[in-house]
This record gives sequence, structure tokens and C-alpha cells, in this order.
Amino acid sequence: MHINELYNGRKNPSLSLEFFPPKTEMGKRNLLERMERMSALDPLFITVTWGAGGTTADKSLELASLAQKVSNLPVCMHLTCTNMDKSVIDDALEKCQNAGIKNILALRGDPPIGEDWTSSQTKNSEFKYAVDLVRYIKNKYGSEFCVGVAAYPEGHCEGEAEGQEQNPSKDLPFLKEKVDAGADFVITQLFYDVDKFLDFEKLFTEKISNQIPLIPGLMPINSYLLFHRAAKLSHASIPEDILKRFPQDIQLDDNKVKSIGIEILVEMVDKVFKETNGRIKCFHFYTLNLEKAIAQIVTRSKTLNYILEDDSRDDQDIDADGDV
Ligand code: FAD
Repeated sequence: MHINELYNGRKNPSLSLEFFPPKTEMGKRNLLERMERMSALDPLFITVTWGAGGTTADKSLELASLAQKVSNLPVCMHLTCTNMDKSVIDDALEKCQNAGIKNILALRGDPPIGEDWTSSQTKNSEFKYAVDLVRYIKNKYGSEFCVGVAAYPEGHCEGEAEGQEQNPSKDLPFLKEKVDAGADFVITQLFYDVDKFLDFEKLFTEKISNQIPLIPGLMPINSYLLFHRAAKLSHASIPEDILKRFPQDIQLDDNKVKSIGIEILVEMVDKVFKETNGRIKCFHFYTLNLEKAIAQIVTRSKTLNYILEDDSRDDQDIDADGDV
């Protein structure tokens, strides 16, 4: 089923969940069991990441196909287009088609660490930006795939090294180009500054589309160190009032950090839903393959708690490869 149709057909707010392919067989088995349990959260869809340059091609395709079977939910596979042969893209799309995967998140990807962007282009000059992949899929497959694209509420980080400012307005024409090329939905980079997201949502609605779903990306806070690392890697700012909630004496106490993190995420979901007057109807969680925080956010958020109501959960978090 196509994500945009599911989104439009749903009255109540919902969530979507992102997973990455674990490295080991045991990790994969644990993750599949977890996905099956997490289907109780009634997600609209789940997504499976793709290693830039096709590094996880086989594992992503396998996980996406299995996920669809065990969870019985629509799956969206991420697919990058630069720094890999076109044959990898063709193969991935054909395998998705055969597995009944109907949704693709079309991305550019990043060059490998240490390589500059121009040298990593050489493998495949047909695809320079994500828009080239959107056009390619739409031309070749028509409406068979529902195609999503990425957006950056605080602006994409490209050019920062050369002193250019990170600014959402700078990317707007290129996001519009992706939507005009046929993108059916948009998922955003993670953010912690809700006001910046709300400004972006306004820009998106006014200048790009008030028709296709804009789905905010949220990452639960599982440890203070990882929270900072993820925000830094994603070029997401952390507002001062959020930083203040983690005084130094609790920063190494993961349980306290997680529980404050859950409060913060709950407030974010509820504020986005309220301030957008329900225009935002789906919240995308970067799960890091973990379950507990998401279930707690759903349970406590005024926006999402109708999903579970009295359902009490006692899940144990296991890391991505299956160790408690
Ligand atoms: P694009 O839309 O191509 O944009 C990249 C940059 O180029 C932007 O700065 C844009 O402003 C600029 N630009 C675009 N078009 C033009 C043009 N015509 N002329 C000049 N400049 C232009 N990466 C992975 O490797 N695997 C994943 O699974 C993955 N999943 C992701 C999921 C989400 C929701 C998000 C937000 C990101 C994900 N990424 C993933 C990261 C993504 O690949 C990087 O952020 C990458 O740097 C940009 O990808 P894009 O699709 O946004 O690129």
C-alpha cells in the first residue's frame, strides 16, 4: 500500500518507525521479533535504511522483505543514488517490485568519509542529486512506487565547510524540484527545536505543497552522549531549555537521561500536533532498532496515546545486535 494513500486515509495521528539492518543473524532475528511486537503501536509504515554507496544493499533488501512479512505493515526502503553503479539501483528496484515493496525513500547519500564529493561522483554520473532518482523511478515505474524524499528543517549541511550558512531557505528550491518531479511524501531530518520545525512546516505548506504529507523525524534520547552525537551528525541544534534539563550530575545516568528524553519527545509530538492544527498526522521515529522509548512516548503523548490506551508494556531494550 502507498504511504500517501494510507496517510490521507487515516483520521487519527500515527507514527512510522525506521530500522537499520543489523550486522549479525542473531541481531536480525531479534529485530524481526521486535518489529512484530512494535506492530502493536499500529505504525502507518516502517522504513529500512540503506548504506550509502550500496554498502548494505543485500541486507537492506532482505530486511525490508522480511519486515513486511513479519509485521504485516507497509515497508518503505531507503535507496541512495550516488557513488554506486546504476545496476545496483536497478537491481534494488526490481527486487522491491518482486517483494511487493511499494514505497521508496529516494536519497542522494553522502560520499564516504575522507572522500570529496567530486571524486565520489565518478561511478555514476546519471545521478547527482536525489531528484535524479525521483525522476528515474517515476519515469521507469510510473505510479507503481510511492516515492518519498528527505528534507531538513534547519537546512542541509552542505557547504558549511566552505563557510556557507545552514539555512532551510537555501534548500527550498531543490526540495520543490523533488516534489515537482513527483515525490509523494517528505520525511525530515531529526530535530529538537520544535519552533524551527514549525517555521519550516509553514514554509513547506506555503511554498512547496499543502497536499503531500510532511512527516517530522524524531530521535528518542537514549543516552546523553549519543543524543549529542546524533544531533551533531545531523546538524540539528539543541535548544538551551532542553540542554538545561540534563544537569551535569545526571548526564551519565542513562535511566534518568532516558526518562527526561521521553518527556521531551512527548512534549515535542504534542506541540507539533497542536501547533499545526493536526496538519501533521504522522511522526517518524529514528528507532536505532530500540523499542522501549517509543512505546513510552506513545503511551504518554496526548496525541498518540489513544493507540495503546491501557496497554501496559514491560519490554526490555536489547542492542541492535541482540545483546541485553
Ligand atoms: P539532495 O536532495 O540531493 O540534496 C543534497 C544537497 O544538494 C542539499 O544541500 C541540496 O540543497 C543540494 N541540491 C539538491 N539539488 C541541487 C541542485 N540541482 N543544484 C545544486 N544543489 C542541489 N543516507 C543514507 O546513506 N542512507 C539512508 O538510509 C538515509 N536515510 C535518510 C533518511 C532521512 C529521512 C534523511 C533526512 C536523510 C537520510 N540519509 C540517508 C542522509 C542523506 O543521504 C544525506 O543527508 C545527504 O547528504 C542528502 O541527501 P538528500 O536526498 O537530501 O539529497
